[in-house]
Amino acid sequence: MNKILLYNTLNRKKQEFKPLKSGKAGLYTCGPTVYDFAHVGNLRTYIFEDVLRRTLEYNGYKVKQVMNITDVGHLTSDADSGEDKLEKGAKRENKTVWEIAEFYTKVFKENFKDLNIQEPHIWCKATDYIKEQIKFVKKLEKKGLTYKTSDGVYFNTSKYPDYAKLAKLNLEGQKEGVRVEVNQEKKNPTDFALWKFSASRRQMEWKSPWGTGFPGWHLECSAMSIKHLGKEFDIHCGGVDHIPVHHTNERAQNWGTTGKDESVKFWLHGEFLLINKDRMGKSEGNFITIQTLKDKGISPLAYRYFLLQAHYRTKLNFSWEALEAAQTGYDNLIRDISNLDPPSLKLRRGGKESGSLPKFEEKFIKAINDDLNMPEALAVLRSLVKSDSPSSAKRQTIIQFDKVLGLNLNQYKKEKALSPEVQKLIDERQQARQEKDFKKADELRHKLEKQGIKINDKADGGYEVE
Ligand code: AMP
Ligand code: ZN
Repeated sequence: MNKILLYNTLNRKKQEFKPLKSGKAGLYTCGPTVYDFAHVGNLRTYIFEDVLRRTLEYNGYKVKQVMNITDVGHLTSDADSGEDKLEKGAKRENKTVWEIAEFYTKVFKENFKDLNIQEPHIWCKATDYIKEQIKFVKKLEKKGLTYKTSDGVYFNTSKYPDYAKLAKLNLEGQKEGVRVEVNQEKKNPTDFALWKFSASRRQMEWKSPWGTGFPGWHLECSAMSIKHLGKEFDIHCGGVDHIPVHHTNERAQNWGTTGKDESVKFWLHGEFLLINKDRMGKSEGNFITIQTLKDKGISPLAYRYFLLQAHYRTKLNFSWEALEAAQTGYDNLIRDISNLDPPSLKLRRGGKESGSLPKFEEKFIKAINDDLNMPEALAVLRSLVKSDSPSSAKRQTIIQFDKVLGLNLNQYKKEKALSPEVQKLIDERQQARQEKDFKKADELRHKLEKQGIKINDKADGGYEVE
């Protein structure tokens, strides 16, 4: 297998990807909190994760991807205070929390389709895993890593000597800031809720050995990732905002329950999409959805193209001018590709290697395997389109590249849409030409002409349809 370098937040270095099980990759990607629409910033993170999965698959890995749907327990403040976002959404729209979760999950999955993001192999809703989460807390409790306060059960982070590692936290500094800490009963500022008691009646609440309430947000990801991917797994992803709290806490819980030094081998994080130099965010109220893009004439795939022009670890500024330029760039690319011949039969039969252009293929793999360098991969694609390589081989190579880019590049000129029967005759004729059976090729040409299809052969072995 080719070498793949990925930037691991754990050691702040590009590191060679070595799977736990040969040829396989376990991937956990933190999913949405379904109390509102996903904004295009959130979707930047999911596209980065999609590209990661496609890159692993392109390299021959069998990936198992798991994504959670947070439908309970994510509070408006990272300090374990504030309202449950789902309960807040329900009040806002005068619906039940279950209706809110179902509606926004549906829209989220539609966003995935629009953006050509592959669905994870397993979707898991936090509310479907309450039993597992309670069991998880019991394990931590048994190991003496928890304590109870008047509002919940907390993880005692001072028991985990390596707590600060992932985010390079300055714990001493945090202790000095303890005066601003809201919850006076917490033993350490970084301690976090595993289980919270219902303060007043909630729509979502469950009985537990500690009291009626609901699970903490960090707990769901640890419980579900370990359940589906095992005590140790390869990669865990999310946006950079997850490093200091959510993923740091997951890592602590994983350590607590599995006893493994590093339950997750690679932590990967995508940078923010900004708008007017600020983070785009649900709570910031400056968010743009896929529907907003569509309303302004920007196609979701042009947005995907826009994102691929920046590396996932760099901040990217959203502006309508940049989006319009991306739409034009994407349209031009599709136009150029739509003029290319279909892959020739011989190439198609020969499969990937013989059909693609190795010089471009090599450069492409080098780019994507260098920590998902998509700007470089797009540059390779553009130089391929401009090159004087045979038209049908170009298309064949582009079809391969699109497995990673996911830009729906394999398009044909609309007015030349051919029926499958006609395409079959054309393919047979191409094969006859390649086999130098010119008599058969001529017969097929006449047959096609009778159906009003004129074929012009080109010097490079390809053809044009009139
Ligand atoms: P949430 O639904 O708020 O839990 O966020 C879903 C995902 O989007 C998480 O992985 C976040 O880290 C990520 N995210 C949130 N805001 C942005 C942003 N402005 N740009 C990129 N990713 C973001
Ligand atoms: Zn998570």
